[in-house]
Amino acid sequence: MKEKPLSVSAIKEGTVIDHIRAGQALKIIRILRLYTNDHQVTIGLNLKSRSSDLKDIIKIENIFLTEDQAGQIAIFSPHATVNVIQNYKVAKKFKVQMPETVDAVLVCPNNRCIANMERIPTLFTIEESDSQAILRCKYCEKIFSRDQMHEKAPL
Ligand SMILES: [Zn+2]
Repeated sequence: MKEKPLSVSAIKEGTVIDHIRAGQALKIIRILRLYTNDHQVTIGLNLKSRSSDLKDIIKIENIFLTEDQAGQIAIFSPHATVNVIQNYKVAKKFKVQMPETVDAVLVCPNNRCIANMERIPTLFTIEESDSQAILRCKYCEKIFSRDQMHEKAPL
């Protein structure tokens, strides 16, 4: 069966985050705050990829990710790729890189953690385990799986 082209519009300038682990696109959008500005964001959930695994995809108009943001994606989806689109073409394509640490954007799941009680910015070191990020809180020193992590609520 011939694969149908994606029925989402092409973007002129911006970023396409592809090969996102299925089910993670919404979390990535919340963590990276990709919804906050006045630009077009297109999300595809549970799309069939070439390997027949399901994947999510995010297209963001006029936004280019920082290295920190690409690292935050890697925590939740280590095989994601970032396509930088310029004039409707892929100008650059790279794989996200697992960062050594992640600061401020995630909440410590431990309610008794001093970072929660004193509302100080969080800091986690990333310890990989079979490419699944394990995060250790700098303050309470507890470790958490990536699926336990949530974004900090907007102020
Ligand atoms: Zn903690």
